[in-house]
Amino acid sequence: MLDVREPRVAEEGWILGLGQEAELTEENDTGLKPPPLRDDCFALPAGVDWTPVDEALKGLRGRLRGVVAREELPLSAVLGRVLSEDVVAKRSNPPLPNSAVDGYGFAFEALGAGDQTLPLIEGRSAAGVPLGHAVPYGSAVRILTGAALPEGVDTVILEEDVNAGAREIAFRAGVKPKANTRKAGEDVIAGDVILRQGLRLGAPELALAAATGLGALPVFERLKVGVLSTGDELVEPGEVAGEGQIFDANRVMLLGLVAEMGFEPVDLGRVGDDRAALRVRLNEAAGKADVILTSGGASNGDEDHMSALLREAGAMQEWRIAIKPGRPLALGMWAGTPVFGLPGNPVAALVCTLIFARPAMGVLAGRGWDEPLGYALPAAFEKRKKAGRREYLRARMRGGSVEVFASEGSGRISGLSWADGLVELPDGELEIAQGDPVRFIPYASFL
Ligand code: AMP
Ligand code: MG
Repeated sequence: MLDVREPRVAEEGWILGLGQEAELTEENDTGLKPPPLRDDCFALPAGVDWTPVDEALKGLRGRLRGVVAREELPLSAVLGRVLSEDVVAKRSNPPLPNSAVDGYGFAFEALGAGDQTLPLIEGRSAAGVPLGHAVPYGSAVRILTGAALPEGVDTVILEEDVNAGAREIAFRAGVKPKANTRKAGEDVIAGDVILRQGLRLGAPELALAAATGLGALPVFERLKVGVLSTGDELVEPGEVAGEGQIFDANRVMLLGLVAEMGFEPVDLGRVGDDRAALRVRLNEAAGKADVILTSGGASNGDEDHMSALLREAGAMQEWRIAIKPGRPLALGMWAGTPVFGLPGNPVAALVCTLIFARPAMGVLAGRGWDEPLGYALPAAFEKRKKAGRREYLRARMRGGSVEVFASEGSGRISGLSWADGLVELPDGELEIAQGDPVRFIPYASFL
């Protein structure tokens, strides 16, 4: 079960209509009138309890664990997978002492003082094709990059520093002992732990495993993440949309995001605002996915069937998280499968996925909890921010500072694409001037 906790009560002026006193007073003076418009579309009725983002994250973190099975796969199949065990090098890298350059090898001790002339023996030592015999003390041998040092060679001089004839080579004084050579195991020693459990494998890790003698790695199966859209207004992208209908933008976005994060996307399709149909779909989904992301219907309205069903199942956590953009997030369990009921708004759905679902899915997938990497960069914008909620702005880095998208409207999908990341503004009140440092988190940090 997901967390059940006491939310913190935060009185917030903007919920109560601070800044709109005139409209509110006017309403009282003239009797029955439509309620005043709120300029903050995330305002909820007074008396609502708000959970700060960090508390919500702490709660999530404490209650989840890995749910995926282990398997062993060849290196060619593990890119993006998560290691299920610590991995130990089978072989040292490099396995033998070898040359770091193309040049000539000899025994350092045999050199006298001053400039040098050494007899050059026949043959050479090349990578993978060793000389096969020892080099006489006081002689030099042609040697290529990566070639094993023959017996009798501990130092190599770069070919550019040498005058080479057919039978001898000459070079200036000043060569250091062991110059241009690599020690056996100077990178990795056989038996060392090279990669830790929970690590997500990238191209560099594949190189390290291969170099140290491993052809296969123990990994977790990919976390299957189901994505479901809800709403009577939705139609399939590219199809004919009737009046009042909109295209389902969230499903392709969330399926794409899940794939980019290295999870296995499972397309659960689309359901209308129909509680019975949604129940059937969730039952099917729980058998196909390890975790379910739904969008739409997550708050408390007449057609918010997602939150209603989770509440009915008795495993609903409606988290009124103090975050913008993002309305109540419905977290719950459905037939043993965790469900993130995301807001329908594409911007809010994306932000809530990045901030809440991503680290949680990381735990379920065996990666453990991790924080996205952010950077303190100067703001190329000005903003006043109210206390009591964390805010995420669509942002991008240009010329060493951070720009934000002109509109904070959470229906503005174009801003998601305009941006290459998010600016995270802390919970407290804040006034940002041009040049003030702000925390920029590139989209790539979430992948
Ligand atoms: P809801 O959370 O269901 O109240 O939806 C909030 C807003 O997001 C409404 O304007 C919906 O039409 C819109 N919305 C919901 N689901 C999607 C979707 N899959 N794609 C695009 N917009 C959506
Ligand atoms: Mg809806």
